[in-house]
Amino acid sequence: MADNTAVTSALQVLEKQLNRPLTAALEVCARCGICAEACHYYVADPKLEHVPAYRGEQLRQVYRRKHDFFGRFFPAWVHAKELDETTLERMAEVAFSECTLCRRCTFNCPMGVDTPLMMRVIRGMATAAGKAPEILEMLADSAIEKGKDPSMFRDLFVEQIGEMEKDLQVMVGDRSARITVEREGARVLYVALAGAHTILPPAAIFHAVKEDWTLSIYEAANYGVFLGDTARAKQIAKRIIDEAKALKVEEVVVAECGHACASLVWEAPNWFGETFPFRMRSIVELFADYVEQGRLTLDPSANPERITYHDSCNLARTSGIYLEPRVILNAVAQNFVEMTPHGLENYCCGGGGGLVALPEYDEKRMKAGKPKVEQIRKTGAQIVAAACENCRLQLGDLNNHYHMNVQITALADLIVKAMRLPSAEPITLPSIAVAVPAE
Ligand code: SF4
Ligand code: SF4
Repeated sequence: MADNTAVTSALQVLEKQLNRPLTAALEVCARCGICAEACHYYVADPKLEHVPAYRGEQLRQVYRRKHDFFGRFFPAWVHAKELDETTLERMAEVAFSECTLCRRCTFNCPMGVDTPLMMRVIRGMATAAGKAPEILEMLADSAIEKGKDPSMFRDLFVEQIGEMEKDLQVMVGDRSARITVEREGARVLYVALAGAHTILPPAAIFHAVKEDWTLSIYEAANYGVFLGDTARAKQIAKRIIDEAKALKVEEVVVAECGHACASLVWEAPNWFGETFPFRMRSIVELFADYVEQGRLTLDPSANPERITYHDSCNLARTSGIYLEPRVILNAVAQNFVEMTPHGLENYCCGGGGGLVALPEYDEKRMKAGKPKVEQIRKTGAQIVAAACENCRLQLGDLNNHYHMNVQITALADLIVKAMRLPSAEPITLPSIAVAVPAE
């Protein structure tokens, strides 16, 4: 027996999201199959279910039942289908575990069919129907709770940052080095991720170039995006937008993280329907500016190993940031090699779309990462750099699973090494994530 409430909620999301790009994706597909080889799931395991067009077809069948003339009266003629709970569950499973929203299929489709947009809509339908992975719901709600009453964790956060400031001073050999939190009037508001590793190396770089910066109390990650839930994604982004407005900063700079950058820089202005009184960009772009402006003293011989770079899908394909990482790598490394393909055509690592947070799909995730493993092996690299936390987590897991024997690093870590700071030893700090349990 179908759960009508769940199905009705899911269909309401579909109807609400039927804008022009989604309608185009639902109506235009030449069934040429070119997208198959574009998808890392298909490359890793070539079967019909892994063809992007086949995935999109599941939603098209539901759409045709209501929006196509023949679909309404002769559904069998055009493969139109009523949505039921079993179909919804199967669609949700595919959208959450067999599509990382990497957009490589869209880039390679002659018609520009936006399959990841359809997958996001399915995620949104599943979320509305109560069929989204619980952990994503929990992470999104926890971030929203944190924004409701920042005073609950602010003092603890400031205290932890105070400890980190001491480590920064040792690292850069300067007792005047500072990490300020939410300082009004700073030029840059830096939004890090949960964990000292995304704060300390950028802090050392900001110190070296004498940047006028301050730290956000929020993390840049946005799990509402992974849920396909625009309302929740907007609430999560709003915390940072309001913070930046109150502090009157010139720009908001997002940590090395693909989806965080794409959601805040590209999606948030649409969600809010306004132009913000500050610029927003990825820290990768800011680092590249520092390098090009000669504001950093860098010694590439500090990174003599063979280093390759994995382009995050959200940074390269969604945000167009693929030249900037190379500006940095060519300045900080002696032996930088490209993987094939790379840049806009790079294969997804298999960890995007929130998959690294979902242990129930670990096996699928490891399988989907196989093309990336082969790409890396062909470079002969000892180090793989990535400007995205999700990618780094996935690459680390792939490294262990496939015994690649490589080291995974962020761009900021390579820059800091090339800066040859007084403290040669990396400082290890515990995570400073302050989780606020969802109600
Ligand atoms: S490449 Fe585009 S048009 Fe061709 S089957 Fe795939 S989605 Fe359809
Ligand atoms: S967005 Fe990426 S993972 Fe999803 S179907 Fe397209 S190529 Fe495959």
